Amino acid sequence: MKIAGRITAEALMVAKDLIRPGISTKEIDTKIRRHIEKCGATPSFLGYGGFPGSACISINNQVIHGIPSERVILADGDIVKVDVGARYRGYNGDSARTFAVGKVSDKALKLISVTEQSFYEAMKVARPGNRIGDIGHAVEDFVISNGFSVVRDYVGHGVGKDLHEDPEIPNFGRAGRGVRLYPGMTLAIEPMVNAGSYDVRVLKDGWTVVTQDGELSAHYENSILITDGDPIILTDVNIV
Ligand code: MG
Ligand code: MG
Repeated sequence: MKIAGRITAEALMVAKDLIRPGISTKEIDTKIRRHIEKCGATPSFLGYGGFPGSACISINNQVIHGIPSERVILADGDIVKVDVGARYRGYNGDSARTFAVGKVSDKALKLISVTEQSFYEAMKVARPGNRIGDIGHAVEDFVISNGFSVVRDYVGHGVGKDLHEDPEIPNFGRAGRGVRLYPGMTLAIEPMVNAGSYDVRVLKDGWTVVTQDGELSAHYENSILITDGDPIILTDVNIV
């Protein structure tokens, strides 16, 4: 899991270094795939449910599951979400970041930063004795107090031999409810945060999820390990 996590994190660094106005999301996807395969891993997303890319790349009002395309060219002021998974010797990493392209609005910067911070609010309660509901509650509480909303139709999940495992990890919920956390659990915690309302819909391509009101959305995800103490981020370039 640590090696899969490192490769996943490196793939996101590859994306980060490429992102600039004028590049296509297809080119980013191609370089991500090349890196994962060079490491002896396989892109977890490629062919998953028929998905055509190695990464989901979603722009602005697109929430998740954007399909990489030669026709989608990044422009100054965009925010772009890159979501990547790598499978190594049968185990998966899953991680996502939101990047600014050139100069973006103050509102976009705040959205990106609140989304990232909401993940760390979840980390504070991701320990034995707590429950899945504590994670969702921590994320939602922080996001709402900053004037944004959390997507309700898509959730985090267990991760391991399968990319998506039980339990589901909503980014909302009631503290003290749900599955108990135990050392050894590996979870993908992934706040999806909208600047406007939390309502989303799927485009006709069958994949791309967009905000219903057209407002911006941001995404931040890591695969983590529950331990006896502080949780460990597995999708980290320095994990192993
Ligand atoms: Mg992901
Ligand atoms: Mg995930």
